[in-house]
Amino acid sequence: MQVDYLIIGQGLCGTWLSWFLAKENKSFIVIDQNEPTTPSKVSAGIINPVTGRRMVKVWMAEQVLSFARHAYNEIGSFLGLTAISQKNIIDFFPNAQRRLVFLDRIDEGDEYLSSFSEQNKFNSLFHYDLGCGEIRHSYIAHLEILLSAWQQQLRDNNQFLEENFEVEKLVIKQDLIVYKQIEAEKIIFCNGLKSLETVFFEHLPFAPNKGEALIVEIPELPQDHIYKKGFLLAPLHERNIFWMGSNYQWSFPHPHPSKEFYDQAEYHLKMWLKIPFKILEHKAALRPATLERRPFVGLHPHQKEVGILNGMGTKGCTLAPFFANQLVQHILRKTAIEPSANVSRFQKILLL
Ligand SMILES: Cc1cc2nc3c(=O)[nH]c(=O)nc-3n(C[C@H](O)[C@H](O)[C@H](O)COP(=O)(O)OP(=O)(O)OC[C@H]3O[C@@H](n4cnc5c(N)ncnc54)[C@H](O)[C@@H]3O)c2cc1C
Repeated sequence: MQVDYLIIGQGLCGTWLSWFLAKENKSFIVIDQNEPTTPSKVSAGIINPVTGRRMVKVWMAEQVLSFARHAYNEIGSFLGLTAISQKNIIDFFPNAQRRLVFLDRIDEGDEYLSSFSEQNKFNSLFHYDLGCGEIRHSYIAHLEILLSAWQQQLRDNNQFLEENFEVEKLVIKQDLIVYKQIEAEKIIFCNGLKSLETVFFEHLPFAPNKGEALIVEIPELPQDHIYKKGFLLAPLHERNIFWMGSNYQWSFPHPHPSKEFYDQAEYHLKMWLKIPFKILEHKAALRPATLERRPFVGLHPHQKEVGILNGMGTKGCTLAPFFANQLVQHILRKTAIEPSANVSRFQKILLL
């Protein structure tokens, strides 16, 4: 079978890369082994325009946020589903210092933060003594329905193989890659941290970051906002169901759900909520984060038949559409990739 591209992985990166290639009428095969707990499947799907304790704008906010919004709406209408919803974040101040930072940022004219006029609106639902603010222009990407619907679309078009990709079976020739019966111009790795297991990208400075989440049923909580007080409570597509998380661990004894997180999150829910809840699930995954907190996008500097779209860290929902499109435009039209995301910045350590 001959195609233009072979894509390994159908998390956020593989989904968006195949979407933009499909829009360009390019042929491709996506291989994914459908692991049950990947970061893309554990993610809340939150697109938050501000980040960190200082609540600064996310990296490249002007370019990536509106691009993401447009892209999720477009793929959603193509697939006949709601892929993204605006859900502003109600930020309940956990302490006086966080309140001060929030109010200072409003005084500085931050376009995303505003004081919430109805301070008592949530009194029957939550305990919050220090008031709340609102983070506007926040969104939820409904990955739990989007990824499976796109996979079904690929399967219907014979563009999807559910199997374990074995890198030892890959042969690279001049201007051609061969994998079992598939011949393609290029292979592009969108396989998250598994890229570290390939000879091409084993030296990239990934910094795996563990995150855990609970899936919680809260029948009395309105689903029109995301709620935050240390942890985030984000409404999922299914009625009454919320995602709660997360933690960010750079060192961890194992990648699985931990009792420590469960106990801490359950305690937090009891202290925060005034209404009944029921914990349904507990999940964990390793984020493909990077030492410099910038993605890895582009063609291998010493092997032009091999590419990568990876390293989205904590911001996959926001960054993946924009950089998938940059990579497609780069391959097809030789346009530039954002230098701080271009994998060619590692050309010295990527010598084969
Ligand atoms: C708890 C948690 C919460 C998060 N919340 C958010 C959030 O709210 N907002 C946000 O923007 N980001 C969030 N993230 C980060 C986000 O999930 C990641 O940035 C993103 O999912 C990474 O996507 P990816 O496609 O690069 O990798 P992955 O999701 O890891 O996808 C890789 C795919 O490759 C496949 N694969 C790997 N190896 C093979 C192989 N050998 N053969 C076949 N298939 C293979 C896997 O099955 C998988 O489907 C969160 C992450 C975690 C862990």
